[in-house]
Amino acid sequence: MVPVFNEEEKKFLADVERFVADCVLPNTREWEKDTFPPDIWKQTAKLGITSCVLKKEMGGRGYSCATYADMCRIIARGDPALAMNVAAINALCVAHFEHFANDEQREKYLRGVLSGDIPLSWGLTEPDAGSDARRVQSFATPIEDKPGYFRLNGQKMFITNGGFAKLFIIIARVSDTELSAFLMEKDQPGFEDLGRIPTTGVSASYTLKFNMNDCIGWHTPGTFEQVIGLLYQGRVGIGGMALGIAEKALELGIEYSKQREQFGMTLSRMQSVQNMIADSAMQVEAARLLVHKAAWMHDQGMPIVKEASYAKLFASEAARDTTNRMLQIHGGRGMTFDYLIEKLWRDAKLTEIGEGASEIQRLVIAKALLK
Ligand SMILES: Cc1cc2nc3c(=O)[nH]c(=O)nc-3n(C[C@H](O)[C@H](O)[C@H](O)COP(=O)(O)OP(=O)(O)OC[C@H]3O[C@@H](n4cnc5c(N)ncnc54)[C@H](O)[C@@H]3O)c2cc1C
Repeated sequence: MVPVFNEEEKKFLADVERFVADCVLPNTREWEKDTFPPDIWKQTAKLGITSCVLKKEMGGRGYSCATYADMCRIIARGDPALAMNVAAINALCVAHFEHFANDEQREKYLRGVLSGDIPLSWGLTEPDAGSDARRVQSFATPIEDKPGYFRLNGQKMFITNGGFAKLFIIIARVSDTELSAFLMEKDQPGFEDLGRIPTTGVSASYTLKFNMNDCIGWHTPGTFEQVIGLLYQGRVGIGGMALGIAEKALELGIEYSKQREQFGMTLSRMQSVQNMIADSAMQVEAARLLVHKAAWMHDQGMPIVKEASYAKLFASEAARDTTNRMLQIHGGRGMTFDYLIEKLWRDAKLTEIGEGASEIQRLVIAKALLK
């Protein structure tokens, strides 16, 4: 299964590849010390990276899910943290505008979103609501004299791109049984920044924790199931991200194995090293097929509940295993900060946790098969 891109998509992916080679990979170590440069969302917006999947009629590029997944793969080869943010911004935030915002909301925000002036974040996770997303405690209360507007109270954590975001999509409870989503501007009195959450991998992504104290939120009607449904495309993007990490790690491992000599031969001539390379290459290839298949099905308008989970689960485990084996091939040097492999090994971990941990992907798959 090979993805088919139209001419515009091919040119776009080539532009992304050049951007990654020139501006992302050379800076990945530097960005990890803090975060991306302040103009990152304007730079990426110019290339169309943050409007990739949005319909053309709404000002987006209207590219396929296959293009989105491949973009995430390419960016992850240069900087997995940037790929994670890009995946979430496209599939969870911009797609939210496409599916749930009304014309007035799009009119107010979309131009800024697409130019990179209004960076976005998606806020579901809370201290007591992670895998069990229905446990969200943040509460939305309607404001009587302002139809469509609600007061939001609660706490959100692990919000990717939160440090950059000017606008959040917040999942909050509207009743004891129902949850929905709201657009919430950061710049308002009730927003209380509780600081950045430092993480062992993808740390440049600027993950934030914050309180909402009577913050004003603008309702984007949609049931919890509808809003959460965007995670399926999101998981294909994280699958693409994991694939990019695994590919890059494999390349680094192969390169190193050809240079390093012990016992009078290069590591690449030792069978146990060759086995690690062969097993990784096979996993990478299989991950590629599952990511492409899920993306292709999405592009055909088919449901991808279990296929998105196959793609994300398999690709994230391929990234985990490949980075681990390739670090092993680097020996002691693999544990130093002089070699990129240790960073990929740390960054890969996120793909097993974010947008539904591996255990949850297995639950989703089993549920679909056993229904
Ligand atoms: C770097 C980073 C960025 C993130 N970005 C965002 C973001 O932008 N927006 C957002 O809303 N969230 C974000 N998250 C949160 C992420 O989605 C959650 O961490 C993830 O869903 C897991 O939730 P949790 O951490 O609360 O773990 P828990 O839900 O407490 O799970 C802990 C462990 O128990 C397992 N487990 C839980 N329930 C079950 C079950 N029923 N059966 C078997 N095993 C189970 C889990 O798989 C996991 O291994 C981010 C997290 C990280 C680390």
